[in-house]
Amino acid sequence: MKALKRFGQNFLIDRNILAFMISRADLNESDCILEIGAGHGVLTREILSQKIKCLHSIELDERLRPELENLAENSPALSLHWSDAVKFNYDSLNPFPEKIIANIPYNITTPLIYELIKHSGIKYYLLMLQKESAERLTAKPDTKARYPLGIIIELMGSAEIIHKVPRNCFRPIPKVDSALVEIRINKNFELSRDKLFIEFLHRAFTHRRKTLLNNLRGFMNIDDWREILQDCASLRAEDLTGEKWLEIYYHLTK
Ligand code: SAH
Repeated sequence: MKALKRFGQNFLIDRNILAFMISRADLNESDCILEIGAGHGVLTREILSQKIKCLHSIELDERLRPELENLAENSPALSLHWSDAVKFNYDSLNPFPEKIIANIPYNITTPLIYELIKHSGIKYYLLMLQKESAERLTAKPDTKARYPLGIIIELMGSAEIIHKVPRNCFRPIPKVDSALVEIRINKNFELSRDKLFIEFLHRAFTHRRKTLLNNLRGFMNIDDWREILQDCASLRAEDLTGEKWLEIYYHLTK
């Protein structure tokens, strides 16, 4: 089977990384897990080797159906879902998963995480990501990699790079390095569905080198943002802490 670039198919082959992921996720018999992009089932099998309650695996590439269905036949805990993970109806999952463990297709990282965090029942994520995506998601205030989704996750919990993973751990070998990121979600659940807040952040980041005052001019039909932004007006979007974003947003919408 030829690996397809458009499906982000780089299969994990490093046994040490697999073992690290499993021990890190600290699985037990009450855990219901979600995996995105099962591929040939390398990580799937590793998760199934633990005492867990259930595993939902989503995969888009129909060519993988025979081998994954074969695995499912011998694994009562495994449910397969053939779908695009960005458009999947997560509310249909029963039992609902609280943890995600996945080596995801890198080309859908941002839209996928935006979708997943809408489901506040999912509390823990262990994700293999492109190194640059991992850096953006975990970027601290006042750094170049800061971006809207990272801010939302900071406000909803935490994100941390726990392991760098070189490209030679995958086949075919990708052109980028990877990193394992751990995300915990435990507060401000409503932000992930707050379209105005998300649009506000994206608007503020439109031109990175411009000030907030310039980027936001005209947004929500407000021409002069000075009164709302106050001491942040001449800062750039990447400078602000999550708390500061919330403070401005509450001031805006109160
Ligand atoms: N977890 C496997 C495969 C990782 S490669 C491993 O570690 O080896 C990424 C996988 O995601 C591929 O199997 C690919 O077919 C699948 N995929 C790509 N786009 C997808 C999408 N939109 N929804 C669900 N799965 C997708």
